Amino acid sequence: MKDGICPKCHSNKIVSNARVLDRSRRSTYNLTLEVLEKPHALIFKGNVHSTLSAFVCGECGYSELYAEDPKGLWLSYEISRDNTDQ
Ligand SMILES: [Zn+2]
Repeated sequence: MKDGICPKCHSNKIVSNARVLDRSRRSTYNLTLEVLEKPHALIFKGNVHSTLSAFVCGECGYSELYAEDPKGLWLSYEISRDNTDQ
């Protein structure tokens, strides 16, 4: 999809980096992913966040989500696995 071609219908009408929103009655937020580096800690769990963006086919509507900071999430995930092993 990031190559500009829809994997479902092969259209080249791709909307890139659309915001993915979470709406409550009072506000609108960017949808985010969260990894906890220390999931069993009572406080200071080492929360690492990354917003999501979407690539959307302008023909069939097929959509893919991407984390803005995949490397940061992966690093925190590795840290969390080390903390879980102890
Ligand atoms: Zn499509």
